[in-house]
Amino acid sequence: MLGPPGAGKGTHGDRLAERCGIPKYATGDILREAVRNDTPLGREAKQYMDKGELVPDDVVLGLVRDVLSSPSAKDGFILDGFPRTVAQAEGLHAWLADRGMSLDVVIYFDAPEEELIRRVAGRRVCVGCGMIYNVHLDPSAAGELCERCGGRLETREDDKAETVRNRLRVYRDSTEPLLQWYATSSTSFRELKAVGSVDEVYNGLLTLVDCL
Ligand code: ADP
Ligand code: ZN
Repeated sequence: MLGPPGAGKGTHGDRLAERCGIPKYATGDILREAVRNDTPLGREAKQYMDKGELVPDDVVLGLVRDVLSSPSAKDGFILDGFPRTVAQAEGLHAWLADRGMSLDVVIYFDAPEEELIRRVAGRRVCVGCGMIYNVHLDPSAAGELCERCGGRLETREDDKAETVRNRLRVYRDSTEPLLQWYATSSTSFRELKAVGSVDEVYNGLLTLVDCL
């Protein structure tokens, strides 16, 4: 799944992964976990993430190769937030090809910039269980607290307005060129208009891709 921050890749990827019974790997989640655990990877990644910059390609590629080598990936997987640069896509494709694999489909989540900023600014994450809410679109039934575990809801460090603008800039510079790269590669490339309610977007997604 490709697309700018706030396009809804995480939400819809989780739903699709559950429907299909395959794992979803989000490099952002894996990196944030490493930061929380204060691992060497986490310490290196944090300095980029807090500014909204990309973590270096070799670091992210190493991490993705590790998760894709795990037994849980053997029946298929969804990637969220990776690849994000042409170099990452080339690295991924070479690695998959060496193992006789390729991506079945690339979905591009598209949404207008004002909507992206609004969504990211409204995003809240439960410190207890990691559940994601949105104060505009999908608020917690428990108000300021998590409706699932009662945990406190926080704004992600890199969801602060200035960092979001930088992430969008990085997206345009580094990730947007990938759209062209995939549009001309042999992988099936599909575009999803990621506007409307979560259910509307999810239904749109299912018309483009379903469990394979
Ligand atoms: P979003 O999609 O909302 O921007 P993510 O959770 O996917 O957020 O990513 C958060 C941060 O993690 C990025 O801003 C970047 O610093 C880092 N990151 C995640 N995936 C990658 C990647 N594939 N390559 C480089 N950096 C990444
Ligand atoms: Zn919670």
